[in-house]
Amino acid sequence: MPDLRQENKVLLVPTIRNILLGFLDILYPRHCFACDSSLHEEENAHICENCLEIVKQAEAKRCSKCGLTLGPGMIPSEEGCYECKSRNLWFEKSFFVSDNEGPVRALIHQFKYKKHICLAMPLGSLLTNLIDQKTICEIDFVVPVPLHWKKKQERGFNQSELMAKKVCKNLSMPISLNNLHRINNTLSQTQLSYLLRQKNVKNAFMVKNPDLFSQKNILLIDDILTTGMTASECAKSLKNAGANKIFFIALARSKR
Ligand SMILES: [Zn+2]
Ligand SMILES: [Zn+2]
Repeated sequence: MPDLRQENKVLLVPTIRNILLGFLDILYPRHCFACDSSLHEEENAHICENCLEIVKQAEAKRCSKCGLTLGPGMIPSEEGCYECKSRNLWFEKSFFVSDNEGPVRALIHQFKYKKHICLAMPLGSLLTNLIDQKTICEIDFVVPVPLHWKKKQERGFNQSELMAKKVCKNLSMPISLNNLHRINNTLSQTQLSYLLRQKNVKNAFMVKNPDLFSQKNILLIDDILTTGMTASECAKSLKNAGANKIFFIALARSKR
């Protein structure tokens, strides 16, 4: 005989939940984290349909290595574009949701600086959708770009790590959180010139146990790529530890 109490509980729980959510919506209306417009009931709890559409439209033809948007007539090639050929980037391929502008820029700000860590889920899903099946089959480990422990303590979380966990969950892949370390508490790259950025992150990373990454293909995750110096230094440490291919993925790519 079915347990009626159990059945009632199942029926009641969503109703009570919906009523509470309804009250919460009146007290604290749900807003899109990117454009601040009110969200309709059927919309995703974090990003409105309009912003999602803008993000989708932002898909661009990019250099497959450094991610810069390619001008008309330029064809993506595995060796990279004229910009990155001279720069000796240590990763082989990169993926980006959009340039660092519009909804993606706003979402990164809300996530990283306003500390809305609930955004890790939708942003992690945006990253997951970018990776092609061929690359997915090649990946052995997902590794978030690490923060120095002091920086992580100050912020309270590593934004790349939170998104990487979601990507791993979506793709059923192993994550490595404690093997690549940031050993220098570097200055924020945001205000530095290209040369200072290069100097700032040089030798900033270290692999604790090289055997774990030996001959492995790694997907490196970060929120944003500006000059590529940080990602390239991470990739260099991973390759010096014996890793095979390094793929890089981030939400945003800064323009030239
Ligand atoms: Zn919006
Ligand atoms: Zn390039």
